[in-house]
Amino acid sequence: MSNAKASAAPLPAVPYLKLPPDGEPYLEGQKCGPCGAIFLGERQVCSKCGAKGALEATRLANRGKLHVYSIVHRSFPGIEVPYISAIVDLEGGGTVKGNLINIEPDPEKIAFGMPVEVVYQDALGRRDKEGNAYIAYFFQPAS
Ligand SMILES: [Zn+2]
Repeated sequence: MSNAKASAAPLPAVPYLKLPPDGEPYLEGQKCGPCGAIFLGERQVCSKCGAKGALEATRLANRGKLHVYSIVHRSFPGIEVPYISAIVDLEGGGTVKGNLINIEPDPEKIAFGMPVEVVYQDALGRRDKEGNAYIAYFFQPAS
């Protein structure tokens, strides 16, 4: 028996997705002071220059360029395919993996380097066992 109740507001699907109560969602990276490298997720040591304890949270841009992508035709049961798994280089630094949406999963329509923007929306209607809804991030073509 669990008395856990669903949170009133959707929760972030990943820890580096930030949902300020009175602002726009954003992705948070860790920036190395000495070398400027940006990573996703908490870490103690910069894997570019080796500096220790020199990483600080930084707000990442919501725009970037498509670095590479892969059209996924087979996935876990219950995951709708095909979808586009993409890696995006964000403006100002940070490389992020996520799904590219609002474009046909057709190599003729997708260009390396195309401008994309980060959008935040419900994580495909999924709920956890407490009934919590989640906000996830996606990429979509930008004008
Ligand atoms: Zn560094």
